[in-house]
Amino acid sequence: MDTKRREQDIGALTSGAMVGPWEWVRGKIPAGTRVFDAHAHVGVDVDGRAMTATGMKARMEAADVHGSIIFPLNDPNARDDYSGPNDVVWAAYEEYPDAFVPFFRLNPHKSYEVEFERCVERGFWGLKLHPVSQEFELDDERVVRLFEMAAEADLPVLVHAGFAMRRIVEPLLPTVERLPDLRLILGHSAMVELLAATRAFEGHPNVLFETSVVKAQDLYVLFCSLDPARICYGSDIPYGDLPSTLHTTLGAADAAGLSEEDLAGVLSSNIRRWFP
Ligand SMILES: [Zn+2]
Repeated sequence: MDTKRREQDIGALTSGAMVGPWEWVRGKIPAGTRVFDAHAHVGVDVDGRAMTATGMKARMEAADVHGSIIFPLNDPNARDDYSGPNDVVWAAYEEYPDAFVPFFRLNPHKSYEVEFERCVERGFWGLKLHPVSQEFELDDERVVRLFEMAAEADLPVLVHAGFAMRRIVEPLLPTVERLPDLRLILGHSAMVELLAATRAFEGHPNVLFETSVVKAQDLYVLFCSLDPARICYGSDIPYGDLPSTLHTTLGAADAAGLSEEDLAGVLSSNIRRWFP
C-alpha cells in the first residue's frame, strides 16, 4: 500500500461517519492527558495482517496518541525462538524511541532461554505471550518458568486473555499469588472470564486489565466491578484502531461514571507509571 492511500485510510477513521464519535472522544479525553496504548503489534501475521513502524506512528499522530507498547504478531517468520520478529520490533523502537515501548514475544514450546536473555540484555521493556496462537496453557510448567524469569528480571508480561481462551483465572491465580511482584497485563481484560478475573485479581495491584477489542457492555461491567486504577487502554492495532477503541473505552467508562482523574489513569498513568 502506498503512503498516500494509507494516510487516506487513517483519515477515514476520524472523518465521514466517524466525525461525531471522534469529536466526542476528543472532548472526553481530560486536558493534558498523554494517551498511551498498552497493546499494539508491529510486523506481519500468518493471517496476512501487517503493521509497519511508520504506519503505527502515523496512526498515533492522527489520533494524538503519545506512546504504545508494541510487540510481534503471530509471525510466519517466527522460526523457533521469535528472534526475527523481535528484531523487527526492536528496529521500530530504534526508529521512534519516544513513541514505542518494545516487548518481545516467545514460544514457550521452544527453547527460549537464549532469546529471553538476548532480549533482556538488549533492553526490551516487557514480554508478550499468546496462549492461543502458540497453543499453551497458562499453568504449563514452561510458561510458569517464564513468568518467574520475567518477575526476576523485573519485566512486565502482557498475556493474551481474550478471544478463543478457555482457562484464564484458574491456571493463572497460583502464579500471581506466588509472584506478587510480577507485573501482569491481561490483554483484552480476560473478557471470557471477566467478572471472575476482577474478583480473583482485585487484591493483586500488579495485575492490570487492558481494554482492546472488548465489547462496550463488557467494558461497562469491568469499569463497574474494578478499581479504575487497575484498567489501561489498548487498541490491538492492526486488529483494532485507535479512534474506535478509544470511543468504546471512553463510552463504557463514561456510562460507569468514572471521574476525569480516573479517565486520565485509564488512558495514560495507570500503565505509564510502569515505564518511568
Ligand atoms: Zn493483540
